[in-house]
Amino acid sequence: MDTLGQALAEKDTAAVSRAGKREAPPALSLSPSRAADFMSCPLLYRFRTVDRLPEPPSSDATRGTVVHGVLERLFDLPAAERTPEQAVGMVRPEWERLLSDEPELAGLFTDDEDGSALQDWLSSAEGLVQRYFTLEDPQRLEPAERELYVETTLDSGLRLRGYVDRLDRAPATGELRVVDYKTGKAPRAGFEQRAMFQMRFYALVLWRLHGQVPRLLQLVYLGSGEILRYEPDEADLRATERKLAALWNAIERSTNNKDWRPNPSRLCDWCAHQAICPAYGGTPPPVPERSLVDDSAETEAPTPRTSVADL
Ligand code: SF4
Repeated sequence: MDTLGQALAEKDTAAVSRAGKREAPPALSLSPSRAADFMSCPLLYRFRTVDRLPEPPSSDATRGTVVHGVLERLFDLPAAERTPEQAVGMVRPEWERLLSDEPELAGLFTDDEDGSALQDWLSSAEGLVQRYFTLEDPQRLEPAERELYVETTLDSGLRLRGYVDRLDRAPATGELRVVDYKTGKAPRAGFEQRAMFQMRFYALVLWRLHGQVPRLLQLVYLGSGEILRYEPDEADLRATERKLAALWNAIERSTNNKDWRPNPSRLCDWCAHQAICPAYGGTPPPVPERSLVDDSAETEAPTPRTSVADL
């Protein structure tokens, strides 16, 4: 499954989990994952951002967090030691580190009496890490940044923010490459541009911050062993800015009218809130009173938003 919201959630989940609790930024901010929530289902956006309802952990999203952690820490090693064997050997310690930070994740394996489910799950994470080496050679890379927090404020006052998995800078030219890892599969033909929305978002933020349009946006799909690349230009990023402004207007309208429509789709299969969703016969709780809508909930909570499958 390549639903935009699912793909983006993997990324932010990983970032927040490894970074731990962060200070909440002021209101009026938007991240790619929250933007994707609203585009996929306004009611889901409400549940996550306005109600801030908890979601149970999922093994898929947690595996995404572990794999992201390994790929981040891999570059702490000297180049010659960035081998598949080393990386695979980092999977279990990364899981144990995450578990120690978030003990509730043990609930993913409570019925696993003989430990086989955990072992299978770790093996699947190891397989994804191993596949990374078929796509890139980390011995030839020296990232400029890893797990980089970026934010900028648009003229409208809307603040954009998020975490870039990896930022590479060409030594000779200074050109930037923005890299994001996905543990899912590459999108089907025709859905590539939709998948690139998150990357254009980051490119826009970096452009606004540094006055430099990234040369290349690169999505690394470990699930299918594919790389999606895109070369943005200023026109692309201006269009992204207009799209985000329109999206924010729509979010504000929903907020002011307390009108958050469900939009049933395949994403519902992974939604933790079906029981209170009108599309499934449920009744949402009253909308909490908030003076402003802010999507910073994910930065306040160290727990992964694991209700969204990392596929
Ligand atoms: S169940 Fe589906 S329609 Fe309802 S809130 Fe979740 S994603 Fe939206």
